[in-house]
Amino acid sequence: MKPPPFEYVRAESIDDALATISELGDDAKFLAGGQSLVPLMAVRLSWPTHLVDIAGVAELSRIAVTDSGVVTIGAATLQRTVERSAAIAAVCPVLPEAISHIGHFPIRNRGTVGGSLVHGDPASELPLCALALDAQLRTRRADGRERVVDARDFFVGPLMTDLEADELLLDVRIPAWPSGAGWGFQEFSRRSGDFAIIAVLTMLRLAPNGTVDEGRIAIAGAGPTPLRPPEAEAMLAGERAGETLFVRAGAQVAESIEPHSDIHGSVRFRRQLAASLTERALADAHRRVQLDG
Ligand SMILES: Cc1cc2nc3c(=O)[nH]c(=O)nc-3n(C[C@H](O)[C@H](O)[C@H](O)COP(=O)(O)OP(=O)(O)OC[C@H]3O[C@@H](n4cnc5c(N)ncnc54)[C@H](O)[C@@H]3O)c2cc1C
Repeated sequence: MKPPPFEYVRAESIDDALATISELGDDAKFLAGGQSLVPLMAVRLSWPTHLVDIAGVAELSRIAVTDSGVVTIGAATLQRTVERSAAIAAVCPVLPEAISHIGHFPIRNRGTVGGSLVHGDPASELPLCALALDAQLRTRRADGRERVVDARDFFVGPLMTDLEADELLLDVRIPAWPSGAGWGFQEFSRRSGDFAIIAVLTMLRLAPNGTVDEGRIAIAGAGPTPLRPPEAEAMLAGERAGETLFVRAGAQVAESIEPHSDIHGSVRFRRQLAASLTERALADAHRRVQLDG
């Protein structure tokens, strides 16, 4: 299938991109890596009249890491650039690890961080990371109004985000990783490079006596958006870290989620998968805390 006809405009700057999109109206769309938008156009699920290409806007593809470990990634930064960033790996190693599971390397070499976040696929790795890492997303409109949206409020449904048609995602800010915390990332897909059926990202921070000070569990592929099941996270706090707790948390996750059923797996299969991957990701996080501690 071929996309319907459209006009192509290359933006030179953030201001240029915003002025152009507001001038062209609601039928125009930003184009970043084109790795989601163009396939959607090819199957006629999206038919913009104009594409405003932001891939070459240098201001949108910057990575900054502060001394305290706060990471800011420009929206048009290539996924592959983040995956290979030594500065990010040093302060937030789960991010490159999760990105390495996105499609294949040519896709990550075109696909951008912002494009994946705005596309908002509930099985995607980057929205999962944004949610798990308590990220904040900064946006701007043509009249100069800026907003900062918590990842918790950004993903509102399958392929739906809290962004207006003329609003540009500028960057994503990830707070410093909590000192001494361990992480786990587990994903299951039918073939290497396929979208996850379920992916789980965990974080554990322990008190000196081995009980959990803070535990996070984020899941992709288990509902209309990435999720942080509050009951399972609450269950971890104050408890002794170890297999018994992780099995209980996995069972709680399976009970909390409302996954769909399709040719890749039934609801029951997805619940069981979410439980096992949660257990494994928590065990990985625990191992990392012990290694680093
Ligand atoms: C074969 C294949 C396999 C894939 N496998 C995976 C996978 O396993 N996991 C995964 O997560 N993804 C996967 N993807 C999708 C890939 O990660 C895309 O790159 C990503 O979802 C979209 O990023 P993009 O930069 O290509 O955005 P585009 O496709 O250019 O844009 C996507 C949407 O975001 C909007 N947009 C882009 N940037 C901005 C911005 N800064 N501000 C406002 N709106 C913006 C566009 O208007 C469009 O609506 C796969 C893609 C392909 C083709």
